Amino acid sequence: MTVSKPVVVVKLGSSSVTEEGGAVNRAVIASICGQVAALVAEGRRVVVVSSGAIAAGWATLNVDRPAPSDPAVLQAVSAVGQPRIVGVWIDELAVHGLTAGQVLLAPLDFVHRRQYLHARRTLDHLLDLGVVPVINENDAVADEEIRFGDNDRLAALVAHLVGAERLVLLTDTAGLLTADPKEVAGASLIEEVVEIDHQLELRARGPGSPVGSGGMASKLAAAKIATWSGVETVIAEASRPGVLASSLAGTPGVGTVFRARPRVVPARKLWIAFALTSAGTVVVDDGARRALVEGGRSLLAAGVVEVRGTFEPDDAVEVQDADGRVVAKGLVRWPSGRAAEWVGRRSDQLPDGLAREVIHRDDMVVLGD
Ligand code: GLU
Repeated sequence: MTVSKPVVVVKLGSSSVTEEGGAVNRAVIASICGQVAALVAEGRRVVVVSSGAIAAGWATLNVDRPAPSDPAVLQAVSAVGQPRIVGVWIDELAVHGLTAGQVLLAPLDFVHRRQYLHARRTLDHLLDLGVVPVINENDAVADEEIRFGDNDRLAALVAHLVGAERLVLLTDTAGLLTADPKEVAGASLIEEVVEIDHQLELRARGPGSPVGSGGMASKLAAAKIATWSGVETVIAEASRPGVLASSLAGTPGVGTVFRARPRVVPARKLWIAFALTSAGTVVVDDGARRALVEGGRSLLAAGVVEVRGTFEPDDAVEVQDADGRVVAKGLVRWPSGRAAEWVGRRSDQLPDGLAREVIHRDDMVVLGD
């Protein structure tokens, strides 16, 4: 049996691959390509996730940017920038004798199993052919309602898809800091995170850079997806010399390292848990909470005490316990109106045509241990 070479996923945001006015930052891409070539020479395979389509598109069009921009306009603008960004990756990888291949993915590619398997097969073949896949979200045509918007989560889902050993999220800060350095003098780098808890998530909330749409909260969300997939993740500064080698070697101070969790969650559940926005909340009693968390069971109407928000079947909803803790997230089978009407009822009291489960176990992921 041949053991395939370890894969590293490297993500660069718009603020790294474009300059302030949006022109493609060839120097940064050239530096990363040199480092990618060194990893390939060591026997690794590398997948690049590169943003910058929208920023480069605006710079190319050279028109006044409306603020706030209509998402449909941004999608159109991305079509102008995407080939320019990829063109630079193609050129700079070629300097090192490497071939780039563009892959554009949308969130639904991670939801529908057939699409997911297609995407995985394509990426596996590209890597087998020695190609460096350069991935972005399919901004131009992705359904505007459910776009990722930033590439952090996309990169994490890709890391899971290709079974990466490491995800490196490159950005314009040294990593995750104890506070916003613009507000707190002496904010310091958090070098290691073993478990991404609620406190850390609160601390990371804040806007991203003016061009990218990610920010630390979205990097943390990505790190969570990756580490829940068993992929160790590093957030580090794109311009740090030798950042990729240091990230893989775990050089102290390289950035923030997030340790992988031993228990791995399947991709579809990762998507439900971390990529979909919740349309509402169902509050459950303690018996139901234990059935979900300890028994891995479906959520039945009998255990629901309250329904909040407006949702339709297949929307994502959070499941909270009576103390307001989120214990699970899942795709609901009932519209909120029916749920509000029938909460607390035993299954044999439900009308015909209504699913027995409010959330089926196959569509639910239990959060926390
Ligand atoms: N896919 C978007 C782009 O390439 C990502 C924008 C961003 O978050 O940087 O422009």
